[in-house]
Amino acid sequence: MIKLRSHHLLCFLGFRGLGYSSTFTQNLATIRKLILKDSYLVLTLEASPDEICKNCPELISGLCSSDDKVKVKDYFLLNFLKEKNLTVKSAYEKIKVLTEEDFISLCQDCSWYPLGYCLEGFLKLKST
Ligand code: SF4
Repeated sequence: MIKLRSHHLLCFLGFRGLGYSSTFTQNLATIRKLILKDSYLVLTLEASPDEICKNCPELISGLCSSDDKVKVKDYFLLNFLKEKNLTVKSAYEKIKVLTEEDFISLCQDCSWYPLGYCLEGFLKLKST
């Protein structure tokens, strides 16, 4: 079982090795790989800082500097998925059902969104 900030499931779709710092991206890449390689790994989703946030320069005194913004994404996904503990496979099967409009409205205010990788990754997931 691994704890994960729920919206990071979406970040994984668009991750192409870019991030806030090299320490951050290396840590994110490691955790992402660990999670995506095991479809039956059980996740515990939450709306608070996780192991990915731990190495993020945006985490100040244990709080994300964009907490108001990212919590909206976390809670949207927690409500959408309807369960806090689920496998990676089950989480992405549900995320596939999200509409493109919902995805855009959820993620478009993120600083990484304009790169285009996130929507590309989401549409790729939907096509599988
Ligand atoms: S601290 Fe905030 S910006 Fe950094 S990874 Fe966590 S949620 Fe994202």
